[in-house]
Amino acid sequence: MTFEPPVTPSRRRNMQAIRAKDTLPEKRLRSALHRLGYRFRLHVRDLPGTPDIVFPAKRAAIDVRGCFWHQHDAALCSKRNKTPASRREWWAEKLASNVARDARNEGALSSRGWRVAVVWECELRDLPTVINRLVEFLGPPRT
Ligand SMILES: [Zn+2]
Repeated sequence: MTFEPPVTPSRRRNMQAIRAKDTLPEKRLRSALHRLGYRFRLHVRDLPGTPDIVFPAKRAAIDVRGCFWHQHDAALCSKRNKTPASRREWWAEKLASNVARDARNEGALSSRGWRVAVVWECELRDLPTVINRLVEFLGPPRT
């Protein structure tokens, strides 16, 4: 039995917005990669953690993570990702379990020979920098 804190309509909307996959910044990231000639699959369910962007021929994956839900390091994050003031214990547990699951999935992927690059939501504000890093991570498109 899981215990959920009461969800007000405004909080519900907010949570849905944060949780939504295929956010605009993520779509821009994918378009930019596609324009550079990369070909990929999205949300591949038969890989641990269902990575967001998968390059099968390269055995490489990109995981785009929301800074709040996946607890981006506060020292590196330009977005607010503090635990909400109410139900602190519930949130702490929930967020800690997300972080633990991310680590497990990354471990499972790498033990199957996959490389993973993590892109944080806040980094997508500077798309060119993210793209440069990913091009380095992926290597040239056609290999
Ligand atoms: Zn961040």
